Amino acid sequence: MTDAADPMTTAPVLIAGGGPAGLAAAAELAYHGVRSIVVEPRARVSHSRPRAKTTSARTMEIFRRWGVAAAVRENAPLKPEWCRTVVFCDTLDGEAITRFDDAFGLRAEPCDLVAEGGQQVPQPIVEEVLRTHLRSTGFVELRLGERVTGMRETGDGVTCEIAREDGSTYRTTAQYVLGCDGSRGVTRDAICSTLHGVSSPRSNLNTVFRAPGLRPAMGDAVQYWVIGPEVKATMGPLDREGTWWAGLGGIDATCTEERAVELLSALVGRQAADTGIELTATDPWVPRMLIADRWASDRIFLVGESAHVNPPYGGHGFNTCVGDAVNIGWKLAAVLQGWADPGLLASYERERRDVAQRTIDSATRNLAASGPDIARTAEGIQRSKHEEFHSLGLVLGYSYHGSPAVLADEAPSFDVANYTPSTLPGARLPHVWISRDHSLYDDLGRGFTLIRPRGSDSDVAAFEADAAARRIPLKVIPAPPTWGLEHHLLVRPDQHIAWRGVRLDASVPEYVVGGRTPL
Ligand SMILES: Cc1cc2nc3c(=O)[nH]c(=O)nc-3n(C[C@H](O)[C@H](O)[C@H](O)COP(=O)(O)OP(=O)(O)OC[C@H]3O[C@@H](n4cnc5c(N)ncnc54)[C@H](O)[C@@H]3O)c2cc1C
Repeated sequence: MTDAADPMTTAPVLIAGGGPAGLAAAAELAYHGVRSIVVEPRARVSHSRPRAKTTSARTMEIFRRWGVAAAVRENAPLKPEWCRTVVFCDTLDGEAITRFDDAFGLRAEPCDLVAEGGQQVPQPIVEEVLRTHLRSTGFVELRLGERVTGMRETGDGVTCEIAREDGSTYRTTAQYVLGCDGSRGVTRDAICSTLHGVSSPRSNLNTVFRAPGLRPAMGDAVQYWVIGPEVKATMGPLDREGTWWAGLGGIDATCTEERAVELLSALVGRQAADTGIELTATDPWVPRMLIADRWASDRIFLVGESAHVNPPYGGHGFNTCVGDAVNIGWKLAAVLQGWADPGLLASYERERRDVAQRTIDSATRNLAASGPDIARTAEGIQRSKHEEFHSLGLVLGYSYHGSPAVLADEAPSFDVANYTPSTLPGARLPHVWISRDHSLYDDLGRGFTLIRPRGSDSDVAAFEADAAARRIPLKVIPAPPTWGLEHHLLVRPDQHIAWRGVRLDASVPEYVVGGRTPL
């Protein structure tokens, strides 16, 4: 039973859940100057379930846009300069079978493809950095230790029931709700949506352990795939002070602590008494490949794992959640600030469902190449696992062509492993360094950006005036000097190209933010 109406301030957006998707959604809204309330049961971030370790190059670019990339790197115990390798071996003390270098988009040096390289960093550290950032923006109220128990949508808002840790409850109403409450949250039910798909019959046991003396014979790696005879596992350091994680394949929650230490020691290639392994946490999980049949109502949107779940092979889950959050975040900001039609919001599911499905498909292939029948020769491993460690095409190369918020339906070429920059509308704006430490992305506006070809005599003033009349934020910048660009590019707030054309057409921005491109 609800005791009271909201005793505190209200905000136009309520975010149910403060995991990666919820924190990212609040960050994107704050970036556009929109206030939100994040309701999250976990008062503190626990480090006993590190879960995501791979922050992709694309997520790091988004973090750069919010001004948190540097903080994430500073707080990450393992720097890309230290190691970017995945090793397959029989045991940690044994022989390396094969290795993948520059895995997961990790880079030691800048390159033109990306404004930021990937970063290995445990999910709890990212969540802590984002919580600190959100508090500093002045646009976000974190209601920690509270849980959304239900919600009801009306024509002009959504009323949420919220329970505190002490059992008391209250009601609050927002104009929009973002359901970032994960695969077991309550928001999906509120819009009568269901997750469909399959779960793997094989369970896994993630462990965190201390082993300060552990120095693998085959050298440093961010991940070791140990395919020894007794148990297969993926494992790696969480820091350089002896804290490790390991995911034990085919082991379930009934495994005792003593047995887990024995298995971990076997992965090292020693007896338990000789490794000094001290188990600090366990986290059982099952690979799941699920996608919701409905992602949104008029005022409630599923974001992240409330809408889709993929197995963590390839390290895409949390990154896909951040991509969702950015997509709905800027659109919601545009609608709330009155420069976009609410019809734009329908493009969220249209654009992100396809990305989620491609991610599930890739992770499912990676899972299939990881089970008991995993390849054991260097050649077989390179063939079957390449996509898992080199997936820049999936990470950067997805396109929103065909969406009502993009003026084109031509698809750029897509290949999971390889990214080919494209200026076709829908694609992520190709990146280039303007000078050392100065990215083209640093010059983009928070709203739309028009990139002019150098030497163009188009009437930009009329285009700007038309956007201003419709209150659409627009910044105009020249094309980078190294680009032989013939077209104008209209870039959306999420760095994806909305339109390209040789001649400027003043009606373009209106079509894009109206979510009704004339295709
Ligand atoms: C073993 C493992 C390894 C992984 N490795 C990677 C990796 O390397 N890279 C990667 O990108 N991803 C990885 N992932 C996936 C990643 O952890 C998830 O994709 C990510 O956490 C999903 O974020 P989310 O915010 O959508 O959901 P969650 O992380 O589930 O967050 C949901 C939040 O909502 C809160 N909540 C729940 N119910 C309610 C409610 N009723 N009201 C309010 N709040 C509520 C929860 O407390 C939680 O904080 C891994 C996952 C696993 C299991």
